[in-house]
Amino acid sequence: MQILVTNDDGVSSPGLLALKQALDGVGTVSVIAPDRNRSAIARGITIHSSLWVEEVTLADGSPAYATDGTPVDCVRLAALGLLETTPDVVVSGINLGLNLGDDVTYSGTVAAALEGVLLGLPAVAVSQEPCGPAIDLTGDEYPFDFRAVASFVQRLVPLVCDARFPRQTLVSVNAPGIPPDEVTCARVTRLGRRIYNDSLELESEEGDRRRYRISGDASHHPEEGSDFDAIERGEISVTPLHFDLTDLSGMDVLERLEVGSLLAPETASADGR
Ligand code: MN
Repeated sequence: MQILVTNDDGVSSPGLLALKQALDGVGTVSVIAPDRNRSAIARGITIHSSLWVEEVTLADGSPAYATDGTPVDCVRLAALGLLETTPDVVVSGINLGLNLGDDVTYSGTVAAALEGVLLGLPAVAVSQEPCGPAIDLTGDEYPFDFRAVASFVQRLVPLVCDARFPRQTLVSVNAPGIPPDEVTCARVTRLGRRIYNDSLELESEEGDRRRYRISGDASHHPEEGSDFDAIERGEISVTPLHFDLTDLSGMDVLERLEVGSLLAPETASADGR
């Protein structure tokens, strides 16, 4: 089995290495990852320029590709022939931080896995909560313990690759930031709902230009059975996601509003085009 491992934190992330090493025994792992942190880039792809791909070496001496493209570009590179064999499964992560609730729409980690699903491949996204406060003053460095989620994903990937597993389903895994022996179980969850408390702050002004910072923290609606709920209980959260964004009840509402008749007669082309 050919396993493509990618991420959005960049090729030097310890989470990427932990995932690669966890999956080494499951199949043949290839690594293609962004050359720098591309977190929160979601489903972005590179269309206005070509892509650099560089052969690099991970901290354990194994080979990898680094690209100046996005996480989704990494999966496209693999699917379009960068590797000798095309991947059988896409596994993205381990992200340094959770991807819960509405956050999945911003996540590059989840987006890369979604690209796998779009290509008809099994796909898993893996995210880990830090297990303590920041260990440097800038707040960029947090302690992470990947052991519980790494062994879980090692067992999960073969299940997701089984022919009976639905091909349109991406599995998003989130692990709580507690010691591995305190993780009690893994639970199937639904996406919870975020409450974003963002604010806009004027940082500086230069003539006609102003520099703003958008920042803030986020909470969530308490909801039993949600991914947030599992993490708060110290459990690994396992959420199936799919790509079909169509709101079926919204279709009924629009039909009842007869939007089909809204086109003004004067704008409708006489020859029906
Ligand atoms: Mn990230």
